[in-house]
Amino acid sequence: MASQKKDKPEHKRDRLQQPLVMPGIHRYQFFSDISDRPLTKNLNRAAMLAIGTALAVDALKPLIGGVPQTLYCYECRACYGTQDRCPVGIGLQAELTVSARVADYERFLRAGGLKCVRCGNCRSFCVVNLDLPRIYSTMQQRTIAAMQRGAIRRQAIQHAYDDGLVGRQFIDRVAQWLEQESG
Ligand code: SF4
Ligand code: SF4
Repeated sequence: MASQKKDKPEHKRDRLQQPLVMPGIHRYQFFSDISDRPLTKNLNRAAMLAIGTALAVDALKPLIGGVPQTLYCYECRACYGTQDRCPVGIGLQAELTVSARVADYERFLRAGGLKCVRCGNCRSFCVVNLDLPRIYSTMQQRTIAAMQRGAIRRQAIQHAYDDGLVGRQFIDRVAQWLEQESG
């Protein structure tokens, strides 16, 4: 039995054999040894798995939505500096970027996403130089498609329409859809 124990390779966290790195502290020495907490070890693994799965799901959405660049958005809001250089008066470009990342069509509508004319003036304000007009264009197409398949509440479309948040390029399709829905 004793020889079996001796043959078992030492884990590097079996710290007392490790050299001292500071007085009283061995290399790889933790305050609590992982072998003393088998339950938390498994909880740690479960937590890491959950975090990994959540990150994968978060990354998958923008990839599937055709806006992978949005993963790099820091949500720093430096793009708000566009201000009156946005020809259609959109003041919250980061809202458009983040709503594209999470495929939140109503949020995109509320922030005026369907007004954007993709001029690119906001692009130079983005600290990571995201291709904002391209992201917004993709999200516009997805929003219209979502509207047509009934994935957006009618009330949200109506509000955007009434509040002048639908640009010239999309106004006919939105008006037609609203008419169909009310008829
Ligand atoms: S790309 Fe769109 S949001 Fe950006 S400045 Fe031009 S119109 Fe405004
Ligand atoms: S400046 Fe760029 S990174 Fe920062 S919030 Fe705006 S889009 Fe995101």
